[in-house]
Amino acid sequence: MSRNVALLFAAALSVSFSMAWAEDAPPASLDADGIVMIDNGGEVTLTADLTRPVGWRLWMADGPPRLVLELSEFTWTTAPEIRSTSIVGYNVIETGPSLSELHAVLREPLGILSAEMIAEEDGTALLEVRLQPTTADTFQTELEAQEDVAEGAKDRLVVAIDPGHGGTDPGAEAEDIRESDLVLEFAHRLRDYLVASGKCDVVLTRTEDKLISLDARLTAARAAEADVFISLHADALVDPDAASGIVIYRLDPNAASSANRRLTERHAPDDRLTGVDLADAEQDVNIALMDLARREAIPRTVALSTALLGTFQSAELVVNSRPERIGQFAVLKAADIPSILIELGFLSTEADLERLTSEDWQARVAEAIRDGLLLWAEEDKLR
Ligand SMILES: [Zn+2]
Repeated sequence: MSRNVALLFAAALSVSFSMAWAEDAPPASLDADGIVMIDNGGEVTLTADLTRPVGWRLWMADGPPRLVLELSEFTWTTAPEIRSTSIVGYNVIETGPSLSELHAVLREPLGILSAEMIAEEDGTALLEVRLQPTTADTFQTELEAQEDVAEGAKDRLVVAIDPGHGGTDPGAEAEDIRESDLVLEFAHRLRDYLVASGKCDVVLTRTEDKLISLDARLTAARAAEADVFISLHADALVDPDAASGIVIYRLDPNAASSANRRLTERHAPDDRLTGVDLADAEQDVNIALMDLARREAIPRTVALSTALLGTFQSAELVVNSRPERIGQFAVLKAADIPSILIELGFLSTEADLERLTSEDWQARVAEAIRDGLLLWAEEDKLR
């Protein structure tokens, strides 16, 4: 029993990580039927009728015994309707922007039988939870099992994968290949390798051919509490002769101000890439605070770049003659998350194009990124 609950909790956790954040999408809210808790032939059923699927987690808590449902990217519009004799009352706590918890206080201990978010064809979603009365002992055992799972989740590396470009911005193009499609395909492949390792949770900043703002990409990474941010590109260079092989970019630590950044851009013409958005994403942030957090992330980001280059080289992948570089990409500016941008190769270079479109090569790169990330995460824990 407790094992089932633990697995269920793990499943709920992973659901909360698999959301894609669409640009400008307003938070979801309750649809016509709202949230209802009702007695149903010896069971208690909770249904949440939502305007679209959202990230969610479900767990039991003590003191007093209660069921907690967390919904992210969600705003309350109507009060829940409680029609179960097993529920004494409820409380809603807002724990962050568009993030809240419904606490249903239990009259008697309940166990979770099943919990599922069903995405409907019209874009809406139904969260359905089945609960069943249980003994106080079992309830306690389940609470402990939950804690074990939560501990386990803390050890997992949360990786934000950011496939560049999308939608109206195809990025670089060569023959009939668009950078936006290529990096999206590769991002899915990388996600599969990372998830299969059993040590990572993955959030993709976009899952379809759609333009996502740089801010929304960072927001998605933050919402998932990402430990690391990897932006994927395969750009074209102004001078195709100079560009071949994988390049790992990290942010120039000295480029704190946009004036400084412009200067650097002007003075590093060989790093000018087409298709990379250099927009300034820091209008509204406290630059001093951000710099502090960024400084702390710098040695960790350098170590990340080194670890990845190491695994690329051991896998005998073709890397650029200057494989580690600093760049001025707004998408790398998450102050507190070690962030890198990987040019998987250059679409403007024929040999790279051939490699980039090869499934075998993509698999080798994905494996090398997985190995580098896990190696880095081990070292990072000790730091
Ligand atoms: Zn690009």
